[in-house]
Amino acid sequence: MTDLKLPDELEALWDEAARNPGTEVDVGDTVVCDFCCEDMTTRPDPGGVILQSKAICPACTKKYEHDIELDMADAVRYGRRAERAQPGEAFADFVRRIRGPQGGRISVHTPESVNAKRETP
Ligand SMILES: [Zn+2]
Repeated sequence: MTDLKLPDELEALWDEAARNPGTEVDVGDTVVCDFCCEDMTTRPDPGGVILQSKAICPACTKKYEHDIELDMADAVRYGRRAERAQPGEAFADFVRRIRGPQGGRISVHTPESVNAKRETP
């Protein structure tokens, strides 16, 4: 069984997001697989996919290829994000390219934070 633990820095940022619901927290260049929690930030491994809001590393993409293929077809059908890395593109570079210049941001939402956002004119 794989130990699904985020790198400590990212765990701390998620804690910060959880303490401040509805606020975006900048994770910088950090890239972690949303399936296995592997820190891919400085790894050159090419491949991987982004499926809706999940970034899936090359190893997990290979391992779950069949399911990912079906989920990607569904995502495309419903107009949701489903992209593969360019041939030879490192997974971390691919994720940062899709994030764009604003960088990686995480946020935690509660019913209260969602309502507060709705009530903001
Ligand atoms: Zn993975």
